Amino acid sequence: MALDFSQYKCEFCGAPCTQVLFAAFLCDKKECVDKARDARGGPGGHMNRKAAGKSILPEDIIREDQIINASSDADPKND
Ligand SMILES: [Zn+2]
Repeated sequence: MALDFSQYKCEFCGAPCTQVLFAAFLCDKKECVDKARDARGGPGGHMNRKAAGKSILPEDIIREDQIINASSDADPKND
């Protein structure tokens, strides 16, 4: 099943996500791709994530994102 990126937003400008590069949700603008590349430590920066034991597959990144969102919603300590 293909991933539906349209339900996600670009991490840098908030536009609808069209692709996942450098372990980041991105739109198709070059400036956002460049920002993502810089944020991940330059070309090959996603390898830092891989080296940290994290997956660089879009499916896994989305899953982590959902887990993080779910746990923050269910956290009663911020009261
Ligand atoms: Zn963008």
